[in-house]
Amino acid sequence: VIELGQPEHSVITTCAYCGVGCSFKAEMKGTQVMRMVPWKDGKANEGHSCVKGRFAWGYATHADRITRPMIRASIDDPWQEVSWEAALTHAASEFRRLQAKYGKDAIGGITSSRCTNEETYLVQKLIRAAFGNNNVDTCARVCHSPTGYGLGQTLGTSAGTQTFESVDKADVIMVIGANPTDGHPVFASRMKRRLRAGARLIVVDPRRIDIVRSPHIQAEHHLQLRPGTNVAVITAMAHVIVTEGLVAEAFVAERCDAKSFADWRAFVAKPENSPEALQDASGVPAAELRAAARLYATGGNAAIYYGLGVTEHSQGSTMVMGIANLAMATGNIGREGVGVNPLRGQNNVQGSCDMGSFPHELPGYRHVSDSTVRASFEAAWGVEINPEPGLRIPNMFDAAIAGSFKGLYCQGEDIVQSDPNTQHVSAAMRAMECVVVQDIFLNETAKYAHVFLPGSSFLEKDGTFTNAERRISRVRKVMPPLAGLADWEVTVRLANALGYPMAYQNPQEIMAEIAALTPSFSGVSYEKIERFGSVQWPCNDSTAEAGTAIMHVDRFVRGKGRFFITQYLPTDEKVTRKFPLLLTTGRILSQYNVGAQTRRTENNRWHSEDRLELHPHDAEERGIKNDDWVSIRSRAGETVLRATITERMQPGVVYTTFHFPESGANVVTTENSDWATNCPEYKVTAVQVMPVQQP
Ligand code: SF4
Repeated sequence: VIELGQPEHSVITTCAYCGVGCSFKAEMKGTQVMRMVPWKDGKANEGHSCVKGRFAWGYATHADRITRPMIRASIDDPWQEVSWEAALTHAASEFRRLQAKYGKDAIGGITSSRCTNEETYLVQKLIRAAFGNNNVDTCARVCHSPTGYGLGQTLGTSAGTQTFESVDKADVIMVIGANPTDGHPVFASRMKRRLRAGARLIVVDPRRIDIVRSPHIQAEHHLQLRPGTNVAVITAMAHVIVTEGLVAEAFVAERCDAKSFADWRAFVAKPENSPEALQDASGVPAAELRAAARLYATGGNAAIYYGLGVTEHSQGSTMVMGIANLAMATGNIGREGVGVNPLRGQNNVQGSCDMGSFPHELPGYRHVSDSTVRASFEAAWGVEINPEPGLRIPNMFDAAIAGSFKGLYCQGEDIVQSDPNTQHVSAAMRAMECVVVQDIFLNETAKYAHVFLPGSSFLEKDGTFTNAERRISRVRKVMPPLAGLADWEVTVRLANALGYPMAYQNPQEIMAEIAALTPSFSGVSYEKIERFGSVQWPCNDSTAEAGTAIMHVDRFVRGKGRFFITQYLPTDEKVTRKFPLLLTTGRILSQYNVGAQTRRTENNRWHSEDRLELHPHDAEERGIKNDDWVSIRSRAGETVLRATITERMQPGVVYTTFHFPESGANVVTTENSDWATNCPEYKVTAVQVMPVQQP
């Protein structure tokens, strides 16, 4: 028994893991955290927590933390510890050298969804103002960028429509391509509570995930589709709603764009979009598709919750628009208990998108080509902003390999482990002349870095995170940054070293600038967050001072809701005799993303390796037994891990997680991506699986 004793003081802060954004009371002895206690007044969690937020914070003081800046001439040289000034001067002079030699657009940067809004805002500002280009992107590129595009096009804003508590009023819950039990545990508990109280459940997922059948919960429909066929399913459901007279005609007539609705209605009504026509493609029987569509349209308040199983496809954006079409056509939007709700993966992925981390958008989702918007930032920042969108992350990799992109500032992302086709990413990283990595650990990306800037963990940060329900909460420092500087201070110093003056005294000043320049953040202030505990944007003082729980109540943000045609197009990633199985990827409860944090905590005991899940038929056909070592081979590459045989999988489909660099699931994933946003198609890779000797 460890005697923890009584805390000396406590600090309220926000979890650094998933997009639920739970509030915690860090109980402290001096600068040492004794316990993280879920905060009962936290609006996102109301005193609940999961195994990550409650227990997996010890990584912050792990022995692997790098606390001194380091540089090296080439990636084959050993690291040399240097002062902050030396590291930042070196990075700045290298970036300037590369721009002088290869042009202004030869460098760029990546913001982090694990950093605060204030830190993310500063990185994109540094790139636009000090680098002088729009080559800024974020990890949302590889997760929810189709949400940004799809919801922006249909509804007018790139964010979930509801507050979490809205699920308490749902009569029908449709979970599409999300595994909330593992990915968003605290919200999943709330959803399950509602399901146990009688809400009816539709699950659209290739795997029989836990929520399909758990104590006192049984999905009424589990549409166990083939990976890559989401759009066939949503279009077939739309066909039923249109042809069986289930459209909410009055809602559509009043709230939606008439021409786009008429076009969509004519499109989905075609016989080739019927469940009978699309059942072979999706693998879901027509009768199931019809019954699920009828339940969604007629079961009362119907709410959709979706995850990366929607977005990480070649038709990710099409599917997001298909979901919005369905909600608008049935009037399931703009009130409690309904809506379209992307379940965001990382703690601040909503915020990193809000803060203008995209190469085509300034903060607040406003296109860089908009001269009025540009002018407001130009006046505040004292620079001219390029009206042309910059490079997305995959474009940066391609340009690096082609020889035109030479330098990268990467804050708090492990792109080498997390992005698809590791071989391609590694080649791109090797081709760059100056890679600056800012992180708390020497991650896989740091293997290709020339400058390493030690980052700070959430326990060392002051600022704000924005969760999946647009809720802005304070992150409060409980210990000083181990490396002496907070991440925002590092960016400020780098900007100054580059010759672009930045001078902020604290993150509060940065937020004041964000609020002044970004309409969706107008009215946000630390004072207001203190007053209300947290605040959901928009929270403009004149219209919704305390924030907005439900969006699109009287009108859509874009005015009239707009329907889009969702033509199902099969992915290019086809099974063949050589690659007869489809691999899909995801995550598990105790680990988080690339595992850099959770692998360095006690959580590693519960799940200490990535496993390949496969159906008993596929295992038997290959002579694979439970726990055997197997190879997964795709057109991109090959990796080895152990097998778990389970009937959660359907025959022909295998599944793994990507938490461990040793198994490196992204060695096999391909560069296929969403047509609109380049979000990688992680969810569909044709593979072969064979037994191998233990490596
Ligand atoms: Fe943290 Fe998400 Fe778990 Fe809440 S549900 S404690 S935000 S990981």
